[in-house]
Formats: sequence, structure tokens, C-alpha cells
Amino acid sequence: MTSYQELYRRGVEQLEAASVGEADLDARLLLEEICGTDRNYLLSHGENPVTKEQHDAYLSSIEKRGRHIPLQHILGYQEFMGLKFQVTPQVLIPRQDTETLVEEVLRFLHDGMRILDVCTGSGCILLSLLRYSNDCVGVGCDISGEALKVADKNAAALGLEAEFIQSNLFENIDGKYEIIVSNPPYIASGEIPGLMEEVREHDPLMALDGGEDGLVFYREITGKAGEFLYPGGMLFLEIGCGQAQAVTEYMKGAGYRDVTVCRDLAGLDRVVYGVWR
Ligand code: GLN
Repeated sequence: MTSYQELYRRGVEQLEAASVGEADLDARLLLEEICGTDRNYLLSHGENPVTKEQHDAYLSSIEKRGRHIPLQHILGYQEFMGLKFQVTPQVLIPRQDTETLVEEVLRFLHDGMRILDVCTGSGCILLSLLRYSNDCVGVGCDISGEALKVADKNAAALGLEAEFIQSNLFENIDGKYEIIVSNPPYIASGEIPGLMEEVREHDPLMALDGGEDGLVFYREITGKAGEFLYPGGMLFLEIGCGQAQAVTEYMKGAGYRDVTVCRDLAGLDRVVYGVWR
């Protein structure tokens, strides 16, 4: 019989051998998921045996992680803003960096506002905003119908009402909003081959690729969003490394005022927002 702790050690070894970063963390999280245990179990009950089913299921999940399939695709979910979001290979896995975007919006969001989330993916941004406010109207759009199915499921699981519309940016959107938020694809095409395998091979390419200079979607969104904002409405954009200056210029050029750049927890410029004239 294999003990919990022995099985964990095998998991760590196999992930290390496969050069998975944070092998010990992922080995532990997979074991906890399969055995329904918490993080203390390893220390407090590590000598307890696991069942044959747990043993086999664990090694099969370790084998997948060893092939650099993201942990979130194996678990089927990712936590974001303290909420659990279902993820599939059809949506970008929610990133902790994006919590900075949500937190900035929350500083300005009032009950009853209308929010549009462009490139909503799993819906994590819009649904978090709805969860932490009252009586807001939430619309999310995405070019991917498959992504919207995931977003719909997430709304249902969280007991939230949102409307998800298949749309290439603003193409099928009408009406006006107080808040428009977006985390669009922003990686320059030429940088994609250098990304981690987990991201390059398993996040949807269409959720990453921001065109030759990575800025295509910022030009489109800053150019068009004003048509969908009430006067005094606000546009919030997540940005990638080194994009703050260009995106600030696009926003000012399009007629936004009080354009502001905010940093994430790592101290990197991560969000640009401004007020529509
Ligand atoms: N933040 C993601 C990454 O680091 C990219 C997401 C995006 O392009 N919006 O891979």
C-alpha cells in the first residue's frame, strides 16, 4: 500500500524530471484535488494509505502535468477574485495579474451601472465585477462562441445574470455603458514562440496574439469604445509589458481624459484607464 506522502513524493519527482516549474506545489494541489484533502493533510496525515483509485487517478494526472498541460486544464478550474471559474482549452486561463484590472474597476463601479467586457473569454472579469456589486447590468462579448459557452456556465455556477454576445469586438454591440473593460490579446506575434509551453500550446492563440506589435486591439478598442460609452463613462484596459506609453497615447488621442496607468503586485504597469469626454 502506498501512503499519501509516498505518492506525493513520486508526483514531485516525476514533475521535476519533466521540468515542470513549481513541481512540489502542483504535485500537492493535484493530490489534494483527487483525495479531497486540504493543505495540512500532508503534514498531519501523510502516513495514511491512499486507495487504488486515488493512486491511479493521481499518477494519470501527474502524467498529464508532466506533458506540460496546465494545472488548470487538469483540475478544470482556476480561482480568480476568490471565485471559482471553470476553464477549458477554449478560454484563456484567468491570471492573477488581471485581478489588478478588476480591482481598479471596482474603485469606480457603482450599483446599477452598465458594464461591457470586451473579449470576455471565461467571463472572469465581468462576473467578478457583478459578484462584487449590486444591480449592475453586465454584457460580455467575445469572437469565440466556444468561450461564451464557458462564460455562460460560469455565470450559472456563480448564480449571476450576464448577457454574453458573440461579437468581433463591438461589431454586434449596441447601447451605452458606464464602464467598458477589456483584457484583449496583447502579445506581439513574434513573441509567442518564446512563451512557456503551458501558455503557447494550451491557451487559445486567439486570446494571446495581439498582432505584429501586440497593440492591434488597443488601437481598435480605443478608437471605437467611445461610441458605446455615456459621457463621463470609463474605459479600463489590461496591458502587457512595455505597452503603457502607447496605450496612454491611443486613449488621449481618442479623446479620453484623466488617463491613468496602474501597476500590478509585481510593480509592472498593468492597467490603463481613462474617462470618456
Ligand atoms: N497575460 C497573458 C500572458 O501573460 C496574456 C493575456 C493577454 O494577451 N491578454 O500570457
